[in-house]
Amino acid sequence: MSEKIRVLLSEAEVDARIQEVADVINKDYEGKEVHMICVLKGGVFFMCELAKRITRPVTLDFMSVSSYGDDTKSSGVVKIVKDLDQPLEGRDVLIVEDIIDSGRTLSYLLRILKGRHPASIKLCTLLDKPERRVTDVEVDYCCFNIPDEFVVGYGLDYAQKYRNLPYIGVVELED
Ligand code: 5GP
Repeated sequence: MSEKIRVLLSEAEVDARIQEVADVINKDYEGKEVHMICVLKGGVFFMCELAKRITRPVTLDFMSVSSYGDDTKSSGVVKIVKDLDQPLEGRDVLIVEDIIDSGRTLSYLLRILKGRHPASIKLCTLLDKPERRVTDVEVDYCCFNIPDEFVVGYGLDYAQKYRNLPYIGVVELED
């Protein structure tokens, strides 16, 4: 079996949309500092592209989580593999995610991070699959709603491959 990637969202489309979302964030955070939290590894490409377009003061931190479950479904119980380096107390936090699927991972993470008393906490995702939602998550900024297909690129992987693609694609298996 070989794999072929079908382009779902081109590099130009993704870049233009990230700029639009950054413009909204810049308005919403007027007079504030944005403390961006990247959920590794998938969120890292999006975080870099978004952060470059934020005109407010930005600080960055990273966390890595692994979600218990099988290959296709997260259980919602999240283990923090790498925690944040800095406290969140009093900060205006923006969580930056690659994709929200069932919403289990993010709702768990939001609960933990809200407990650290940030001044505010918002969620920005590159992609959302709303029809797959199992647990409600309030998404403040979303670049694209996509259909229920397994996507790669822009930080998203298939067996750790394809994260470096500058576009969003769908993996198609061929004989
Ligand atoms: P949730 O807890 O919302 O079900 O899981 C979200 C996580 O599942 C994402 O951070 C991502 O790691 C993974 N995921 C969900 N859908 C996709 C997809 O289409 N492609 C890839 N590469 N990962 C996905």
